[in-house]
Amino acid sequence: MVEKIFELGKKPGIPDNGGDPSTLGKFLCIGPTEPPGIEETQNRYSNLNFTGPPGTASSLYFSLVYQLPKWGWHVEKADEWIEVSPTHKEYWDRTVSTKQMLESTIKTGLTSAAQAVADFELMSHDIRKYKEILSYFQEKDEHVLKSMFIDQVDVHTDLPGQPIALRSVVSRWPTIIADFMRLEDEDIDPDKIAKKLDISKAEAVILATKNRLYKKWKDLFRKAAKERYELLRGLVEARRKSIKEYKEWLKPYIARFKMTRLGGERSHVRRETLRTFADITGQSTFANKIRIFAWKPMKFAEFRKPAAEIKGDFIINPYDDYIREKLILDPVNGLASIYPWLRNNRKYCPKCKEYYSFDTLKCKKCGSIRLENKKYADEIVEKEIIPAWKRRELGLDPRELYYMFLDIDVFRTGTRIQIGELEDITFYNRIFVLSQNALLVKILELKCKDLELERYIDEMLGIKFEDKDISELVREEFPELFGEKEKLTGLQNYVKGLRETIESYVSFFKKIKLPKTRSLIFVKPGPYERDFKERITKHFLKYAATHLSAVTNFLLEKMGVE
Ligand SMILES: [Zn+2]
Repeated sequence: MVEKIFELGKKPGIPDNGGDPSTLGKFLCIGPTEPPGIEETQNRYSNLNFTGPPGTASSLYFSLVYQLPKWGWHVEKADEWIEVSPTHKEYWDRTVSTKQMLESTIKTGLTSAAQAVADFELMSHDIRKYKEILSYFQEKDEHVLKSMFIDQVDVHTDLPGQPIALRSVVSRWPTIIADFMRLEDEDIDPDKIAKKLDISKAEAVILATKNRLYKKWKDLFRKAAKERYELLRGLVEARRKSIKEYKEWLKPYIARFKMTRLGGERSHVRRETLRTFADITGQSTFANKIRIFAWKPMKFAEFRKPAAEIKGDFIINPYDDYIREKLILDPVNGLASIYPWLRNNRKYCPKCKEYYSFDTLKCKKCGSIRLENKKYADEIVEKEIIPAWKRRELGLDPRELYYMFLDIDVFRTGTRIQIGELEDITFYNRIFVLSQNALLVKILELKCKDLELERYIDEMLGIKFEDKDISELVREEFPELFGEKEKLTGLQNYVKGLRETIESYVSFFKKIKLPKTRSLIFVKPGPYERDFKERITKHFLKYAATHLSAVTNFLLEKMGVE
C-alpha cells in the first residue's frame, strides 16, 4: 500500500504559490515550505517537544485531537505507523502477541470471507447453467430441448427386457429420432403423424406417446429451471452482500495490522528514522509516527465573491480543469503519480450523471449513446466528494472559497533509561492557506488511501478488483444474465465505428496549437486570490497564523510551559 503523501509545497504535491507565482489565481496554496530552522516565517509553523513519564506524551496527543473539532476543525488521520524495536523484550513480546492476535482474527475473517467467495463462484457457475437452459426456452430452441429430453429423460424409460426409449428402438425404426425432431407440439394423433411424416402406424404410435411425454416434461422442466434460477440469483446476491460485509468488518483490523511493524519489517524510511533514534540511546522501545490533516473554512465576509458566479450550491465549482489536469491527473506531478489508477478510463452519461466501464456503448439508464470519456478520478470526485461537499460534510462548505489546512506531524518514542521509562513526543505543526480546489485534491488523496486499503483486502480475498466494485465485477462476469451487455446490433456497431472516428479527429485537432481565446478575453488567469503582497500576506496569512498559535499555545499549556 502507498505510504507516500502528496505534500503541500513539495514535489510530488501541490506547489506553493510563493515558489511559483505563475500559479497565483488558479489556486491558492501558501504555507511554510522549508523545514524548521530554515523556514523564516515563524508564525506559520511550530515545533514542540515534550518528554515525560509513559503515557504523558500520548495524553498530549489525545488532548489535541479532541480539542481541534471543538475549534471547528475537521480532523483526519492521514498516516500512521508504529515500529517496535527488539531491545525492550517485554514491550516487544507484548507487541508481537498483539500482532499475532490481530493476525489470527484476520485469518479467521478471511477464511469465512474466502468461503463466501468460493460459494459465490460455485453458484455463479450454476446460475450460468440455468441461464443457458432458460435461454433455450426463451428462444424456443426445440432442437436442443428435444436432445436434452432424449439423452437425459427418455433414455431412462427402458424397462428390463422391454426397450422403449427412442435410443433403444432405433434398430427397429432407424429414422425415429429424426422423425421425433420434426414433430410439432400439436402432433399427438398417431394417424396424423403417420400421414405427415409418411411412416408406419406402429412408429407413429410411439412418436405420439413420446411427444406427449416431451410436452409434459418441457412444462415441468421450464418451471423447475425458472424456480432454481430465481433461487440462485437470490443466493448469489446474498453472498455478494456478505463478501462486502466481511470486507467492512476486516478493514480496521487489517489497517491496524499493517500499521504495526516489528523490527524486521521496516521500510527504508522507517528503518532510517528508528535507527537514528536507537543509535543515540540504544534503548528505544518503540517509535510511532502519526500524520494529522485538519481543515476549516476561513470565514471572513470581506472575501465573499458576488453572487453572480453561483453555480449550483458552489460559488465556484472546486473541481476545475486546471486542478484536474495539473494537480490530479498529471502522471508526473499530479496525484496520479502516487495513485496511477486515478487515470483509468471510464465512460460517462452526462444526462444521467452515471459512470460505466470504458467498453460501455450505451447508457444503462437512459439508453443514450452520447457517452463521454472520463477518468476514474472524475468518478470519485463527482460521485463522492462533491455530493458530500454540498451536504456540508467533512468540514466543507460550498459557500466558502478558502480554507486553513493544518498539517501536524507527530513523532512519539519510548525510551528506557536506568531509572525507568520515558515517553517523548514531538509535534511539528504547520498551517497552510488553501483555496477550495487545492483542498479538494487533499480530500481526494485521503479517499485514495481508503480505496487502496479496500483493494488490498480484495486482493487478499482473491477478488480481482482493479478499479471496479464487486457489483460491476458480477455484471462483467455474467453480462448476459444481467442483460446489460447485449450483442452489438448493426446500429450499435455503426455508432461504435463513428465514435472511434470522431475521437481520432478530436485528438488530432487537439494537437494543433490554437491561440486560447479564453485567455485573450480574460486577462485574469483564475478565479482565486492573487494579490500576494496585500491581501494574501496581510489578511490570509495573518489570519491563519493566529489559528496556529491557538494550537501551539494549547499544547504548551498542556506541557506545563506558560
Ligand atoms: Zn443516461
